[in-house]
Amino acid sequence: MIDSHCHLDPSVYGGDLGVDAVVARAVEAGVTHMLSVGSGYGFESAARALAVARRHTNVRASVGLHPHDAKDFTDARFADLLAMAEAPEVLALGEMGLDFHYDQSPRDTQRAVFREQLRVARQRRVPVIIHDRESDGETLRVLDDEASWDTGVLFHCYTGNLALMQRIVARGGFISIPGIVTFKTAGEMAEVAAQVPEDRLLVETDAPFLTPVPHRGKKNEPAYVTHTLAKVAALRGRPVVEVEALTVANTRRFFDWKDE
Ligand SMILES: [Zn+2]
Ligand SMILES: [Zn+2]
Repeated sequence: MIDSHCHLDPSVYGGDLGVDAVVARAVEAGVTHMLSVGSGYGFESAARALAVARRHTNVRASVGLHPHDAKDFTDARFADLLAMAEAPEVLALGEMGLDFHYDQSPRDTQRAVFREQLRVARQRRVPVIIHDRESDGETLRVLDDEASWDTGVLFHCYTGNLALMQRIVARGGFISIPGIVTFKTAGEMAEVAAQVPEDRLLVETDAPFLTPVPHRGKKNEPAYVTHTLAKVAALRGRPVVEVEALTVANTRRFFDWKDE
Protein backbone atom coordinates (compact mmCIF):
# COMPACT_ATOMS: atom_id res chain seq x y z
CA MET A 1 0.00 0.00 0.00
CA ILE A 2 0.98 3.61 -0.45
CA ASP A 3 -0.10 6.52 1.72
CA SER A 4 -0.32 9.19 -0.97
CA HIS A 5 -0.41 12.10 1.50
CA CYS A 6 0.94 12.40 5.02
CA HIS A 7 2.98 14.94 6.95
CA LEU A 8 5.93 13.05 8.43
CA ASP A 9 7.09 16.15 10.19
CA PRO A 10 9.64 15.60 12.97
CA SER A 11 8.07 18.52 14.85
CA VAL A 12 4.85 16.48 15.09
CA TYR A 13 6.26 12.99 15.80
CA GLY A 14 8.94 13.73 18.37
CA GLY A 15 11.95 14.32 16.17
CA ASP A 16 13.73 12.12 13.65
CA LEU A 17 13.52 9.04 15.87
CA GLY A 18 9.77 9.44 16.14
CA VAL A 19 9.44 9.73 12.36
CA ASP A 20 11.63 6.65 11.87
CA ALA A 21 9.35 4.66 14.20
CA VAL A 22 6.27 5.84 12.27
CA VAL A 23 7.84 4.75 8.97
CA ALA A 24 8.77 1.37 10.47
CA ARG A 25 5.22 0.79 11.76
CA ALA A 26 3.84 1.67 8.32
CA VAL A 27 6.08 -0.86 6.57
CA GLU A 28 5.11 -3.47 9.16
CA ALA A 29 1.43 -2.81 8.36
CA GLY A 30 2.12 -3.28 4.62
CA VAL A 31 2.28 0.42 3.77
CA THR A 32 5.57 0.19 1.94
CA HIS A 33 5.67 3.74 0.54
CA MET A 34 4.48 7.15 1.65
CA LEU A 35 4.52 10.69 0.32
CA SER A 36 5.44 13.25 2.95
CA VAL A 37 3.96 16.61 2.09
CA GLY A 38 6.19 19.56 2.88
CA SER A 39 3.50 22.19 3.12
CA GLY A 40 1.02 23.34 5.72
CA TYR A 41 3.16 23.22 8.85
CA GLY A 42 4.87 26.53 8.29
CA PHE A 43 7.40 27.50 5.65
CA GLU A 44 10.10 25.27 7.09
CA SER A 45 7.98 22.13 6.67
CA ALA A 46 9.20 21.80 3.06
CA ALA A 47 12.84 21.42 4.11
CA ARG A 48 11.84 18.97 6.86
CA ALA A 49 9.84 16.79 4.43
CA LEU A 50 12.76 16.71 2.01
CA ALA A 51 15.15 15.70 4.81
CA VAL A 52 12.88 12.79 5.79
CA ALA A 53 12.70 11.63 2.16
CA ARG A 54 16.49 11.77 1.95
CA ARG A 55 16.79 9.45 4.96
CA HIS A 56 14.16 6.93 3.75
CA THR A 57 14.18 5.58 0.20
CA ASN A 58 10.53 4.52 0.56
CA VAL A 59 9.46 8.06 1.49
CA ARG A 60 9.22 10.71 -1.23
CA ALA A 61 8.29 14.35 -0.72
CA SER A 62 6.41 17.25 -2.16
CA VAL A 63 7.10 20.90 -1.41
CA GLY A 64 4.72 23.81 -1.63
CA LEU A 65 2.94 26.69 -0.02
CA HIS A 66 -0.29 25.91 1.79
CA PRO A 67 -3.04 28.53 1.65
CA HIS A 68 -2.71 28.79 5.45
CA ASP A 69 0.91 29.95 4.99
CA ALA A 70 0.30 32.12 1.93
CA LYS A 71 0.34 35.21 4.14
CA ASP A 72 4.04 34.62 4.84
CA PHE A 73 5.04 34.52 1.17
CA THR A 74 8.21 36.36 0.21
CA ASP A 75 10.19 36.17 -3.03
CA ALA A 76 13.23 34.83 -1.17
CA ARG A 77 11.25 32.05 0.51
CA PHE A 78 9.64 31.13 -2.78
CA ALA A 79 13.05 30.93 -4.45
CA ASP A 80 14.22 28.56 -1.67
CA LEU A 81 11.17 26.40 -2.20
CA LEU A 82 11.71 26.18 -5.94
CA ALA A 83 15.32 25.17 -5.42
CA MET A 84 14.19 22.37 -3.09
CA ALA A 85 11.66 21.25 -5.69
CA GLU A 86 14.58 20.32 -7.98
CA ALA A 87 15.68 17.52 -5.63
CA PRO A 88 15.15 14.01 -7.05
CA GLU A 89 13.22 13.06 -3.88
CA VAL A 90 10.55 15.68 -4.65
CA LEU A 91 7.78 14.27 -6.84
CA ALA A 92 5.25 17.12 -6.85
CA LEU A 93 4.47 20.68 -5.86
CA GLY A 94 1.94 21.18 -3.09
CA GLU A 95 -0.16 21.07 -1.23
CA MET A 96 -1.47 24.37 -2.55
CA GLY A 97 -4.88 25.83 -3.19
CA LEU A 98 -7.66 27.74 -1.48
CA ASP A 99 -9.05 27.38 2.02
CA PHE A 100 -12.04 29.63 2.66
CA HIS A 101 -13.08 27.60 5.71
CA TYR A 102 -10.24 28.66 8.00
CA ASP A 103 -9.23 31.80 6.06
CA GLN A 104 -5.82 31.84 7.75
CA SER A 105 -4.49 33.99 4.91
CA PRO A 106 -6.41 36.77 3.12
CA ARG A 107 -8.25 35.32 0.12
CA ASP A 108 -6.51 37.49 -2.45
CA THR A 109 -3.15 36.39 -1.09
CA GLN A 110 -4.24 32.75 -1.27
CA ARG A 111 -5.28 33.23 -4.90
CA ALA A 112 -2.01 34.91 -5.91
CA VAL A 113 0.22 32.34 -4.19
CA PHE A 114 -1.79 29.48 -5.67
CA ARG A 115 -1.47 30.84 -9.22
CA GLU A 116 2.22 31.52 -8.79
CA GLN A 117 2.84 27.86 -7.92
CA LEU A 118 0.64 26.58 -10.75
CA ARG A 119 2.69 28.59 -13.24
CA VAL A 120 5.91 27.03 -11.99
CA ALA A 121 4.37 23.54 -12.10
CA ARG A 122 3.26 24.08 -15.68
CA GLN A 123 6.69 25.35 -16.74
CA ARG A 124 8.52 22.50 -15.06
CA ARG A 125 5.88 19.92 -15.98
CA VAL A 126 5.43 18.57 -12.46
CA PRO A 127 2.14 17.41 -10.91
CA VAL A 128 0.35 19.41 -8.23
CA ILE A 129 -1.37 18.41 -4.99
CA ILE A 130 -4.44 20.52 -4.37
CA HIS A 131 -5.96 21.55 -1.04
CA ASP A 132 -9.50 22.80 -1.60
CA ARG A 133 -11.75 23.74 1.28
CA GLU A 134 -15.02 25.58 0.75
CA SER A 135 -13.78 27.53 -2.26
CA ASP A 136 -17.16 26.96 -3.93
CA GLY A 137 -15.62 25.77 -7.19
CA GLU A 138 -13.08 28.57 -7.43
CA THR A 139 -10.13 26.18 -7.14
CA LEU A 140 -11.37 24.37 -10.24
CA ARG A 141 -11.83 27.64 -12.12
CA VAL A 142 -8.27 28.71 -11.28
CA LEU A 143 -6.92 25.35 -12.52
CA ASP A 144 -8.87 25.83 -15.78
CA ASP A 145 -7.64 29.38 -16.09
CA GLU A 146 -4.00 28.39 -15.58
CA ALA A 147 -4.29 25.39 -17.96
CA SER A 148 -2.93 23.15 -15.22
CA TRP A 149 -4.62 19.84 -15.96
CA ASP A 150 -2.11 18.39 -18.44
CA THR A 151 0.72 17.97 -15.95
CA GLY A 152 -1.35 16.21 -13.28
CA VAL A 153 -3.79 17.51 -10.67
CA LEU A 154 -4.60 15.61 -7.48
CA PHE A 155 -7.34 16.80 -5.13
CA HIS A 156 -6.11 15.53 -1.78
CA CYS A 157 -8.34 14.84 1.25
CA TYR A 158 -11.32 15.17 -1.03
CA THR A 159 -14.42 16.26 0.89
CA GLY A 160 -16.36 17.82 -1.97
CA ASN A 161 -19.56 16.54 -3.51
CA LEU A 162 -20.17 14.08 -6.33
CA ALA A 163 -20.79 16.78 -8.93
CA LEU A 164 -17.42 18.45 -8.29
CA MET A 165 -15.66 15.06 -8.33
CA GLN A 166 -17.13 14.41 -11.76
CA ARG A 167 -15.93 17.77 -13.06
CA ILE A 168 -12.42 17.04 -11.73
CA VAL A 169 -12.15 13.59 -13.31
CA ALA A 170 -13.62 14.85 -16.59
CA ARG A 171 -10.61 17.20 -16.76
CA GLY A 172 -8.17 14.35 -16.09
CA GLY A 173 -7.79 15.00 -12.35
CA PHE A 174 -7.21 12.49 -9.55
CA ILE A 175 -9.03 12.15 -6.21
CA SER A 176 -7.49 11.07 -2.90
CA ILE A 177 -9.84 9.73 -0.22
CA PRO A 178 -8.90 10.35 3.45
CA GLY A 179 -9.81 8.55 6.68
CA ILE A 180 -12.95 10.66 7.04
CA VAL A 181 -14.60 8.02 4.84
CA THR A 182 -14.48 5.64 7.85
CA PHE A 183 -16.45 8.06 10.05
CA LYS A 184 -20.17 7.58 10.72
CA THR A 185 -20.57 11.15 9.47
CA ALA A 186 -18.93 10.43 6.09
CA GLY A 187 -22.17 11.25 4.27
CA GLU A 188 -21.70 12.00 0.58
CA MET A 189 -18.01 11.12 0.81
CA ALA A 190 -18.98 7.43 0.97
CA GLU A 191 -20.79 7.89 -2.33
CA VAL A 192 -17.77 9.69 -3.81
CA ALA A 193 -15.40 6.93 -2.67
CA ALA A 194 -17.63 4.37 -4.34
CA GLN A 195 -17.82 6.27 -7.61
CA VAL A 196 -14.40 7.76 -8.37
CA PRO A 197 -13.30 6.07 -11.63
CA GLU A 198 -10.88 3.31 -10.79
CA ASP A 199 -7.98 4.83 -12.72
CA ARG A 200 -8.23 8.10 -10.68
CA LEU A 201 -8.58 6.83 -7.12
CA LEU A 202 -5.92 7.27 -4.41
CA VAL A 203 -6.03 6.89 -0.62
CA GLU A 204 -4.26 8.87 2.09
CA THR A 205 -4.08 9.53 5.81
CA ASP A 206 -3.25 13.27 5.82
CA ALA A 207 -1.51 12.28 9.07
CA PRO A 208 -1.13 13.51 11.80
CA PHE A 209 -4.83 14.53 11.74
CA LEU A 210 -8.08 12.84 10.64
CA THR A 211 -7.29 9.46 12.21
CA PRO A 212 -9.56 6.76 10.76
CA VAL A 213 -11.82 4.41 12.74
CA PRO A 214 -10.87 2.36 14.83
CA HIS A 215 -7.98 4.55 15.99
CA ARG A 216 -9.94 7.76 16.68
CA GLY A 217 -8.31 9.78 19.45
CA LYS A 218 -4.79 8.66 18.54
CA LYS A 219 -2.35 10.61 16.41
CA ASN A 220 -2.77 9.55 12.79
CA GLU A 221 0.08 7.84 10.92
CA PRO A 222 0.57 6.14 7.52
CA ALA A 223 0.04 2.61 8.93
CA TYR A 224 -3.65 3.51 9.38
CA VAL A 225 -4.26 4.02 5.66
CA THR A 226 -5.05 0.28 5.73
CA HIS A 227 -8.41 1.11 7.38
CA THR A 228 -9.26 3.74 4.80
CA LEU A 229 -8.40 1.36 2.00
CA ALA A 230 -10.55 -1.41 3.52
CA LYS A 231 -13.50 0.97 3.85
CA VAL A 232 -13.15 2.21 0.27
CA ALA A 233 -12.98 -1.40 -0.98
CA ALA A 234 -16.14 -2.27 0.98
CA LEU A 235 -17.98 0.75 -0.42
CA ARG A 236 -16.99 -0.29 -3.94
CA GLY A 237 -17.91 -3.94 -3.32
CA ARG A 238 -14.43 -5.08 -4.33
CA PRO A 239 -11.78 -7.23 -2.62
CA VAL A 240 -9.26 -5.13 -0.68
CA VAL A 241 -6.34 -6.55 -2.69
CA GLU A 242 -7.84 -5.28 -5.93
CA VAL A 243 -8.42 -1.77 -4.63
CA GLU A 244 -4.96 -1.84 -3.08
CA ALA A 245 -3.41 -2.73 -6.45
CA LEU A 246 -5.26 -0.05 -8.36
CA THR A 247 -4.57 2.73 -5.82
CA VAL A 248 -0.88 1.80 -5.80
CA ALA A 249 -0.76 1.83 -9.61
CA ASN A 250 -2.56 5.19 -9.73
CA THR A 251 -0.25 6.73 -7.13
CA ARG A 252 2.83 5.57 -9.00
CA ARG A 253 1.48 6.81 -12.30
CA PHE A 254 0.37 10.17 -10.98
CA PHE A 255 3.69 10.96 -9.31
CA ASP A 256 5.84 9.07 -11.85
CA TRP A 257 7.12 7.30 -8.74
CA LYS A 258 9.81 4.75 -9.46
CA ASP A 259 11.86 2.84 -6.94
CA GLU A 260 15.58 3.38 -6.97
ZN1 LIG B 1 -4.80 19.80 2.82
ZN1 LIG C 1 -2.06 17.64 4.07
